[in-house]
Amino acid sequence: MKENLEKFVLPGDKLSTAEEYVPGKNTVETNGLVISLVPGIPEKNERELIISVKFPKTKIRAVIGDIVYGQVTRSDSRQTIVSIAGLGREGKIVDYQAEGYIRNMNDDRRDDRFFQSARIGDIIRAKVIRVGQNLELTMHGNNLGVLLTRCGKCRNYLVLKDGKLYCENCQRTEARKFAPDYGTPVP
Ligand SMILES: [Zn+2]
Repeated sequence: MKENLEKFVLPGDKLSTAEEYVPGKNTVETNGLVISLVPGIPEKNERELIISVKFPKTKIRAVIGDIVYGQVTRSDSRQTIVSIAGLGREGKIVDYQAEGYIRNMNDDRRDDRFFQSARIGDIIRAKVIRVGQNLELTMHGNNLGVLLTRCGKCRNYLVLKDGKLYCENCQRTEARKFAPDYGTPVP
């Protein structure tokens, strides 16, 4: 039996405590909480006490200026590859699957290393700046950046502390271009 909560969640949003539900599809357990890895609609399986997140199904086409949500799957000196899972439309996030990339080399702006600072596994919000075979993305912009990331040393999720991304386990900070609503839950 499934209960559809009809409430959209974003990557990093808290779904339940780990005591209430076991993390299912598109979710992860961290710091005693189950959080969403994707934009979508939470679904609770009350019989097995599993909580998962489902994408709503829509067929859409990305255009320049669209805001997308995805996870960094690969990164080298030339580009950062993003597996896109959702796209913002009219105030909602709809299911959208595509590959995007952030160029890492071609910029005249000195702060660009910071804006290319997403690493593998990071969940990001980015803007489409070119539409082609794959989408070119950028994290330049007030509302854009990393939404959820792990410590490079111990893989714990980093929390936002004093305006920096901080690992409570290693007691160290990491530099990322993070979004203002960076979503790691702090118990
Ligand atoms: Zn750590």
